[in-house]
Amino acid sequence: MISTMYYLLPNLPYPYNGLEPFINAQTVKLHHDAHHLGYIKKLNVALESVQYPKIPLPDLLRNLREVPTSIRQTVRDNAGGFYNHNLYWEELVTAEQNIPEKLGKALKERFGDFESFKNKLIECSMSWVGSGWAWLYLDTQKNLQIGVTINHDNPLMEYCPLQGTPLLTLDLWEHAYYLQYKNDKKAYFDAFFQHIAWTYVEQLYLQAKQE
Ligand code: MN
Repeated sequence: MISTMYYLLPNLPYPYNGLEPFINAQTVKLHHDAHHLGYIKKLNVALESVQYPKIPLPDLLRNLREVPTSIRQTVRDNAGGFYNHNLYWEELVTAEQNIPEKLGKALKERFGDFESFKNKLIECSMSWVGSGWAWLYLDTQKNLQIGVTINHDNPLMEYCPLQGTPLLTLDLWEHAYYLQYKNDKKAYFDAFFQHIAWTYVEQLYLQAKQE
């Protein structure tokens, strides 16, 4: 039992079977209750071990240099794993959603059309070797960008080659799809696009543009 709980596991916004057939209940349960929780537990233990101040998660990610070197890599991996999974579950929905106007227009302006955007994100994801996350993010110049980060890095994080505000992410770790899709990553990536909470992604986009 951790005496001073730093961070807690958020509940899923839908039941375990809420994303079927895209992701089956068994995969969601294991992914949320074991993997996601595991990152939070390890993060809490590391922060507790040095009595680190309690700060909002994005501030922790943006200021990794301030974390003692003895726990910095552990914090980088597990705070990243925590944040990325929070976004991943929140950005998914049970039924297909239309893209709201402002986000749709911005994607079209940046990538030509929606299919080009989708293909580019899938291409990046398919060509990535090993664990990581694919992103749609708003860079520091407020341009929409697509990219991939290694392990649990994300664009908020100090030291990350991509810098900006995360808007949409795709979990490229095998635990996200392997139980169900085995080595057919392409089928997992394609099905992902049927379950994106576009209204939520647009909220993040509009908020990030104003910051
Ligand atoms: Mn994962």
